[in-house]
Amino acid sequence: MTEIDRMLAANEAWLGQFPGDLPVAPARKVAVVACMDSRMPLFGLLGLEVGDAHVIRNAGGVVTEDTLRSVAISQHLLGTRAVVLVHHTDCGLQKSTDQDFADLVERTTGHRPPWPARTFTDVDADVRESMRTIRETPYLLSTEVRGTVYDVASGRLREIS
Ligand SMILES: [Zn+2]
Repeated sequence: MTEIDRMLAANEAWLGQFPGDLPVAPARKVAVVACMDSRMPLFGLLGLEVGDAHVIRNAGGVVTEDTLRSVAISQHLLGTRAVVLVHHTDCGLQKSTDQDFADLVERTTGHRPPWPARTFTDVDADVRESMRTIRETPYLLSTEVRGTVYDVASGRLREIS
């Protein structure tokens, strides 16, 4: 049985807590932009229920063109207005550099990726940069943009001013 087989089997058990049909627009009008880190259970740590928020995740929770595409769709088509960023301590993106990562991929596959990995050293600075990008994107409708760092050692969320 592979991990994916186990997931498909787990769905059977989850049907017991399925909340039923819900509106497509998130009830709390919030979009969360977060790192893909496996230690961040976003719904639990932010007190969200199914149907409450959009969750947009990628490596680092960085604001890429595709993140902006998702936030724009979230806001213009589905009515969200607040954006909260969730980065975290001990991120995988702090363990390499853009150059080293591209070198690794090229060495392993023979192909150099056309995009930067968007590694960083200072997580607070990275959150501020992400907040600035969202605030300065002229086609968004955000009424509130806030950034946080989740401590994977304590479970505590720290807001970045
Ligand atoms: Zn991360």
